[in-house]
Amino acid sequence: MRVVVLTGGVGGARFLRGLKALQARPGQSAPQISHITAIANTGDDITLHGLRICPDLDTVMYTLGQGIDQDRGWGREGETFTTQAELSAYGAGPDWFGLGDKDLATHLIRTRMLDAGYSLTDVTAALCKRWDIGISLLPMSDERVETHVFIEQDGEKVALHFQQWWLEHRAGIPALGFANVGADQAQPAPGAIEAIQECDLVLLAPSNPVVSISPILAVPGIKEALQAKTVIGVSPIIGGSPVRGFADACLAAIGVQTQAGAVAKHLGAKADGGVLSGWLVDDVDADQVQDLESFGIRAKAVPLWMSDVDATAEIAREALALAEGIR
Ligand code: GDP
Ligand code: CA
Repeated sequence: MRVVVLTGGVGGARFLRGLKALQARPGQSAPQISHITAIANTGDDITLHGLRICPDLDTVMYTLGQGIDQDRGWGREGETFTTQAELSAYGAGPDWFGLGDKDLATHLIRTRMLDAGYSLTDVTAALCKRWDIGISLLPMSDERVETHVFIEQDGEKVALHFQQWWLEHRAGIPALGFANVGADQAQPAPGAIEAIQECDLVLLAPSNPVVSISPILAVPGIKEALQAKTVIGVSPIIGGSPVRGFADACLAAIGVQTQAGAVAKHLGAKADGGVLSGWLVDDVDADQVQDLESFGIRAKAVPLWMSDVDATAEIAREALALAEGIR
């Protein structure tokens, strides 16, 4: 079977690693996965020092290519930050975005290729050749779709780039809302809609629902293409906690509770024009299963901690099993 995964950075990349492990050894009960396509959020992308940086694409690429810093979850293993320190010595910021020396090579090549007229899709494919990631990795769009965060400053509503709110302010300034700037004009990356149309199953990785999954769904055509598909999501919220990062601050800004069930209802049941056929929640959220089922979303409680690759492969297996029960 062909599987498409909508993904952000760290959470999505870890999930994809587990899905790949399942593909390599499916066991008796899981269907054989023939191909995996990941469609990654590019709403976090930013230009710094003239370099185009795509954090979620790079996190997926480095993770699946075994080049990731395992502890941090982002950036290269064995990384140094000499160039960034030199830039700071010149007073050239920002210092809130970690730009590693090894990582810079990726951004240099990406920027050079974009400047030469290649699309982000082509650049991503070219970068991925080195890493032999074993899946097709696509940006959600070749066009710029940037996540901006509205905050109140001196009594006025102002917009910040998502990265500045997230990294400099650590999501500590209350967000009034989010905008996917450029989304209405954007087109899905070449191949993205086709991958969805040709696949047997779409999975939503346990990525941030507001700033990773939602920007992908905001690209015109993607949500519509999902309508004809079985779509299973993995909750990024466990026991009312975002596990890692500040998804709780993002959810609060859009008036959604930090609860596995609330996030699923926000994404909506397919029968009501939403995106979800099914949703996996963690065992500790088993009490939300019944309510989701009545809401029209098939649900199951299983362990959702991606503590290692085997545990994550098991989550992926449960997602496939939930889909089997629906079709
Ligand atoms: P980012 O783009 O790097 O922020 O990464 P993603 O958006 O792909 O994933 C971040 C989300 O992953 C966080 O908001 C967490 O809710 C979720 N997450 C992280 N670790 C785990 C885990 O072990 N299990 C589950 N279910 N979710 C997790
Ligand atoms: Ca991200």
